[in-house]
Amino acid sequence: MVTEIVVSGANGRMGQAVVEMISEVDDFELVGAVDREDIGEDIHQILGLDEEPMEITEDLATTLEQVKPDVVVDFTNPQVVMEQIKTVLDHQIDLVVGTTGITEPDLAKIEGWNQKQNKVVIAPNFAIGAILMMNFAQKAAEFMDDVEIIELHHDNKLDAPSGTAIKTAELISQNLDKPEQKVAEVEELEGARGGEHDDINIHSVRLPGLVAHQEVIFGGEGQTLSIKHDSINRKSFMPGVELAIRKLSEIEGVVYGLDNLIDL
Ligand code: NAD
Repeated sequence: MVTEIVVSGANGRMGQAVVEMISEVDDFELVGAVDREDIGEDIHQILGLDEEPMEITEDLATTLEQVKPDVVVDFTNPQVVMEQIKTVLDHQIDLVVGTTGITEPDLAKIEGWNQKQNKVVIAPNFAIGAILMMNFAQKAAEFMDDVEIIELHHDNKLDAPSGTAIKTAELISQNLDKPEQKVAEVEELEGARGGEHDDINIHSVRLPGLVAHQEVIFGGEGQTLSIKHDSINRKSFMPGVELAIRKLSEIEGVVYGLDNLIDL
């Protein structure tokens, strides 16, 4: 059976990688490409893919009504993603969301919108290596209590810190006995110690040349432990996106995090 997919944000960096992945998977078919850039252009031609033309359309709701896909994959941006999710759920279509910036209150809202019990996977990071990095860090927190997170991304990323850094902090904090602060710190330059989430300091670096990277550093008496993951290109996320689309048939309601789809 072929799974018919609409990609929203199809002309963005991640959306283009998803369109390419769909063209390589025999039982996936792209039936719609929604974006706000290059409307009316052929996304397959833009990517140099030898596929039937697929015109970029502007309006998600209209596209869904016209093509009635099995699944929508969303890689838009944190400003519009909630509106996108609502539109998809209003049309009772299953959904895979990779766009970051979705908070816990947002998740509660999405659960509330999903009265028809569509299947939804939301994952701030689809790279399997990143899931392992988070899992190892959570494990390490059972034994080492001092930890900070450094995340590094390309300079076009809109949100900071990354969704992965927030999720890592939440996972680590479940296993952490946060020690008392040892000295009364003075932050001479505001932000120098990063931001705090669940009492864990997170530092965000934005530079051209980077894709998506994160290092979790634990400190102990006379030792440090660094757990590091690098996404070198956007193909690193595609096996995870493919897995999420395939797992939709097995889940119920909203699942947050790729870790909940694989047996770690
Ligand atoms: P991008 O800016 O290159 O692409 C976003 C695309 O969405 C653009 O083409 C833009 O025109 C389009 N867009 C904006 N508003 C829209 C709307 N209302 N309807 C349809 N399209 C719209 O960004 P990117 O680097 O591709 O990243 C997209 C999102 O994915 C970001 O939130 C990023 O943090 C996230 N991301 C997630 C993962 C993951 O594994 N989950 C990995 C990398 C990036």
